[in-house]
Amino acid sequence: MTIEARILHTYDRVFEGLLLRIGRYSPSANIELLRAAYRTAYDAHQSQTRQSGEPYFEHPLEVAKILVGLKMDYQTIAAGLLHDVVEDTNIKLADIKRDFGEEIAILVDGVTKISGLKPLDFEQQQAENFRKMLLSVVRDVRIILIKFADRLHNMRTLGSLPEEKRRRIALETRQVYAPLAHRLGLAKIKSELEDLALKYLEPEIYEELARKINERKDQRQEDIRLITKPIRDNIVKAKIHARFEGRAKHFSSIHNKMHNRGVPFEEIYDLLAIRIIVNKVEECYYALGILHNLFKPIDDSFKDYIAKPKPNNYQSIHTKVIGPGGKKYEIQIRTESMHRTAEEGIAAHWRYKEGKIREDDLDKQLIWLRQILEQDEDDADSVSFMENLKINLFQDEVFVYTPRGDLYKLPIGATPIDFAFAVHTEVGLHCRIAKVNGTVVPISEKLKSGDQVEIITANSQTPNKDWLKFVVTSRARAKIKKFLRDLELESSIALGEEMLTKSLSAYGIKYKDIDLGELSAKLKFHNEKQLLASIGYGDTKLETIIRKIIPEEKRIKKEKSAFVRILERARGSSSGIRVAGMDNIMINFGKCCNPVPGEPITGIVTKGRGIVIHLNNCKNLIKLMQEPDRIVDVSWASENMKRFIVGLSILGERRKKFLSEVSETINANDSSILDVKMNSETSLFTCALTIEVYDLDHLQKLIGKIKRLPGVISVERISNRNHVE
Ligand code: MN
Repeated sequence: MTIEARILHTYDRVFEGLLLRIGRYSPSANIELLRAAYRTAYDAHQSQTRQSGEPYFEHPLEVAKILVGLKMDYQTIAAGLLHDVVEDTNIKLADIKRDFGEEIAILVDGVTKISGLKPLDFEQQQAENFRKMLLSVVRDVRIILIKFADRLHNMRTLGSLPEEKRRRIALETRQVYAPLAHRLGLAKIKSELEDLALKYLEPEIYEELARKINERKDQRQEDIRLITKPIRDNIVKAKIHARFEGRAKHFSSIHNKMHNRGVPFEEIYDLLAIRIIVNKVEECYYALGILHNLFKPIDDSFKDYIAKPKPNNYQSIHTKVIGPGGKKYEIQIRTESMHRTAEEGIAAHWRYKEGKIREDDLDKQLIWLRQILEQDEDDADSVSFMENLKINLFQDEVFVYTPRGDLYKLPIGATPIDFAFAVHTEVGLHCRIAKVNGTVVPISEKLKSGDQVEIITANSQTPNKDWLKFVVTSRARAKIKKFLRDLELESSIALGEEMLTKSLSAYGIKYKDIDLGELSAKLKFHNEKQLLASIGYGDTKLETIIRKIIPEEKRIKKEKSAFVRILERARGSSSGIRVAGMDNIMINFGKCCNPVPGEPITGIVTKGRGIVIHLNNCKNLIKLMQEPDRIVDVSWASENMKRFIVGLSILGERRKKFLSEVSETINANDSSILDVKMNSETSLFTCALTIEVYDLDHLQKLIGKIKRLPGVISVERISNRNHVE
């Protein structure tokens, strides 16, 4: 036999042993499929060796063995055998799907995805987020169980890795996987992971504990024998079948208790602990009676988690007694099935069941998983883990990275804008371009867990109302709204000032000659700006102001025509640009009806938006007309005003001919540019154009043409001049 054949022979024997065990707990397991998975994994990994020099295949085989130990269904075991082939060999996920079916492919893919999550520099907060991210990508509970088996075997064989890698993996195990195993009730796996992490992260402590435990091992065994014997004798008399376990104290749990309680090794280690495992629930209470009859219970130590299970379904009776030689003993009494739940948690829950698993069973499993994760625990770490989860369960969250590797948690549906505001308000306010995994995407794109997001800012970029349509975080929403409110305030102040100036000039009074401070105090405003804004919003009527300033006899009757006068100035002005100025400051067109020149219109004084022009047959107008004070008689500037003036904001990549191409396009389409403002401080180029169009159709056609120019990213109508600097 060649060496290779001998190795294969050994593996074959191990595998046949596994198949026998599987056949025992799952008679309907697809053994042929398992053999095929074994063969595929063996062939795929054949040329690979592990760091230790052993054939790589040993790893997936050991992973399968751990899963068999947890009595997983055959699909999980097949996926365990195949869990590294997509990541490490030429075999593609599609091949797995073709040869082993969709279900196994999903499991393998899930494990591969977890391995693809980038390692972090572990601060505690990050570790919590990482755990949650890990769960957020898991669509099937079995994926996480395969991952635990994978990690457990890697930890068992960690010794052969280089120091640095060893530390990184041990740290990740301690901060991510062990706490997660704890949350999921995988007590056995959690303890082994923690002990192995301790061994590699704090070898001196580990060695010392090993030495001390070894010194006292014989005494401890004797102590346990002393209490077990009389209990056993009495239980046997009662014809109850029971088995006894001396509970192993794990290195890391001894170490943690020493550390947390500040007590010496002996105090923790010398507390003796045994477990009595029976078949039936009523036998638990019977055994308890026997125990308390033999040994004096310690007051208040009795806890009945059978009658009142813990939220994760943990069931057991706990008690403490004074045993032989006056020593304290901790005793747990439970049934076999309770024992499995306690040791294997979610794995026991998921344990192979006869018959096919249906889709809604999978959902139930996930709901159960979430409930288990929500339970309260008294150690601080899991408490804050849980608090975060309670606010937002992880299925509603995505986890994304900055280019530096910082992890952010966002609600599902979050966009690059939400991310930008989460990073910093300034980044949000000036977010210009978003790159996800290196590619430019629309800032409204929905982010996915694991995405790396980069934000490019530009000082000239500021939020606009459209952003509110797609942001999902309250933080981004609040910041954008505040920005827009401030903007609105500014334009209201400008409008108020203009209205007041014109109103006064009708009486031959100059704006700068009045005492605005005194006036605002009289009218109970905090300051002049508030007064002006209030005029601009339409809250304070010009009539009121005029009354305060000008004696009655000097007043003209129809003060309310102030609006009309402003408009007349605008209309009367022969140059289109004057209209554009008005348009920007105080005239807006109803977005509900989009009036175009020539159509019959009505103006409405609107808070914060100056005068909004609606079509006479606009549905909204009927509602608005209920406040006649706000109606302003308006008409299009003049019959020969053939052109309509609009502002456009264009964003594009910076290229030499960018502007000339834009201007050619505009001229070639029977329009012309009246004003241009440019900005190109980054790799991007923005310009604000004022152009002339005939009507809406003309405008839309022009926008379409500009959008098709090379390098153009977006073209937007400017509805307020403050939108683009
Ligand atoms: Mn692996």
